Amino acid sequence: MENNNPAATEVCYVKGVGEKRAKQLNKLGISTVYDLVTHYPRGYIDFNNTVTIADAPQDENCVIKAKVTRKLAPYYGKIALFRVLVSDGTGDMLITFFNTVYSFQRLKVGEEYCFYGKAGGNFLRREMSSPIFVEAKDSHILMPRYSLTQGLSHNMLSGYVKNALKDYSFPERLSERLMAENRLLGFSDALRMIHFPHTEEEYSLAKRRLTFEELFLLQIGLKSMKNRNKKLTGAKMTTKDISAYYASLPFELTGAQKRAIKECTDDMQNPAPMNRLLQGDVGSGKTAVAAAVCYFAYLNGMQSTLMAPTEILAAQHYQTLCGFLSPLGVKVELLTGSATAAQKKKIRAEIANGEVHVAVGTQALIQKNTAFANLGLVIADEQHRFGVEQRAALSGKGDNPHTLIMSATPIPRTLGMIIYGDLDISTLDEMPKGRLPMKTYGVDSSYHERLYRFILKYTQNGFQSYIVCPLVEEGISEKASAVRYIESLQNTCLKDVPTGLLHGKMKQADKDAVMKAFKDGELKVLVSTTVIEVGVDVPNAVVMIIENAEQFGLSQLHQLRGRVGRGKEQSHCILVTDNKSEFTRARIDTMVRTSDGFEIANEDLKLRGPGDFFGSRQHGLPPLKISDIYADFEILEETKRAAEKVLADDPRLEHPDNSGLKAMVDELFSNAANA
Ligand code: ADP
Ligand code: MG
Repeated sequence: MENNNPAATEVCYVKGVGEKRAKQLNKLGISTVYDLVTHYPRGYIDFNNTVTIADAPQDENCVIKAKVTRKLAPYYGKIALFRVLVSDGTGDMLITFFNTVYSFQRLKVGEEYCFYGKAGGNFLRREMSSPIFVEAKDSHILMPRYSLTQGLSHNMLSGYVKNALKDYSFPERLSERLMAENRLLGFSDALRMIHFPHTEEEYSLAKRRLTFEELFLLQIGLKSMKNRNKKLTGAKMTTKDISAYYASLPFELTGAQKRAIKECTDDMQNPAPMNRLLQGDVGSGKTAVAAAVCYFAYLNGMQSTLMAPTEILAAQHYQTLCGFLSPLGVKVELLTGSATAAQKKKIRAEIANGEVHVAVGTQALIQKNTAFANLGLVIADEQHRFGVEQRAALSGKGDNPHTLIMSATPIPRTLGMIIYGDLDISTLDEMPKGRLPMKTYGVDSSYHERLYRFILKYTQNGFQSYIVCPLVEEGISEKASAVRYIESLQNTCLKDVPTGLLHGKMKQADKDAVMKAFKDGELKVLVSTTVIEVGVDVPNAVVMIIENAEQFGLSQLHQLRGRVGRGKEQSHCILVTDNKSEFTRARIDTMVRTSDGFEIANEDLKLRGPGDFFGSRQHGLPPLKISDIYADFEILEETKRAAEKVLADDPRLEHPDNSGLKAMVDELFSNAANA
């Protein structure tokens, strides 16, 4: 069978798959034949690298080469057991499969196989459970290992891939010139070799080709977007004197803040819209920069909008901006979900007729049916939840308004090149003066009593504290978990301390009330799940305890920690975990050692791999299937140059040589392009 559109053919049609398996494959994100063959192996098993049964190391993965001597009668209990005995002359081994008759049926008595798995058992009889195996005559291949889901085995998946590669064709879509210039393998060869390499070299060639393609497409897509944004803005501004703003601030801006403001106001005087990321560690003072830029727009007779990911943050930004800008005659309004319909209607009307100069709200509220009289500037806080698609959608709001995206998640340069390939970047690399570096500790739960006394002491001295408790147990709700925690405080020295509770399931009005009470100092301790993660600013809070710290990523811990240390008092962050794994240790040590957000982001990337950055999809970019931003940095640089070259010759990818490329980029960025 020959079929030329694997991307439009459902995976159930691949020989051997069928409806039931297709459902399981769907769980892995595989719905078409193309998805199947681009579900790349995570590693390989080298079946040549064998040990004898007698020498097989205990509880480590290894390959043994042995003959099946006997198949035992299947045992059907709660779990079905399928067992075979194998021997290689140095000893016997009992091999067990659970619930998978498929593997069992494939094994024939008297035949020789290579089995890969963890060898267990004792010196009388060795055992291995659910090994991956091939016939000994096939042991020259490197066997792919895939990420799997319940019901699928490596053998099954590699069988399906093999059938797909045999029965479908995968035409080349990169131009010959590009392939020649960059010494790239053809696509269908690369597919075959990435799944079933015979040698290391085949693997390397295939990996290089596919990595190159993936990163190259990203670069092309992002650069094209950047070019698209080069269309003219209707909000071109002119020089204005913003010294009144500087004068009205209760503090002196840092050099970094001033530089960022200048970069923005310069951008906004260009014919093309500003498309800039303002990146700065928690507490570096991004809001003061945002306010300055809004003021600049105001002096130019244009409206601005500031969008936040949560209501709490929107409310806080509103207060801050009012504080900075109202004295200068700028009218700031807040559009919240909790306002009455009449209030919302009124505010929307004032935004539409231009009375409101700066509209603050959540993204949802601003983006849905809010019309502006004269929108010149869009600011979005915390870009991580704000993807390329939304960025593209925004340009529609005004007449190509300027956009500024604020992020407290420092992105290592390598990642930044990809995620923000379409943005210019301003970095606040200087903290406001007079801040004491925070002290961070890692402890286990035996310290709880001491920690509560620590909080009590600070409370008695007029300060406030956060306790962050993520979901503690599986199966109970976030709310129940937080409620249980707060109840447990009744048995501690904190029982008489006014304590508030904040969790994601609360109504907005209730959240706001709690947050306000904490800000006003009525509540001394705030127990929360992770809803305070971004942006919330209470300078009087100087202690943060993070329970089950192992459940958070490093960057997330850093964000949380940034909630304290905002005033002049020495702040403390205590990470509590009973997890003793090396991974957790390494992460806690990093947090204790440094408070540099960039260093932490780098460490995070190293420890977790880029999968988490990309897996979450929060940035709105297509996920990476094969590239590793760290390891493949050189290829990344190559693709950057290659993309620049291709676009310089053919900016809109209209040349027939580039038609395959254009199709791929459009597919990849279809959401962003449609928006
Ligand atoms: P972030 O970058 O995390 O959003 P914020 O904008 O919330 O930081 O600022 C953190 C705190 O620092 C706020 O209370 C703000 O008023 C204050 N701040 C900002 N810039 C300065 C400065 N140059 N000097 C002193 N305090 C500042
Ligand atoms: Mg902020």
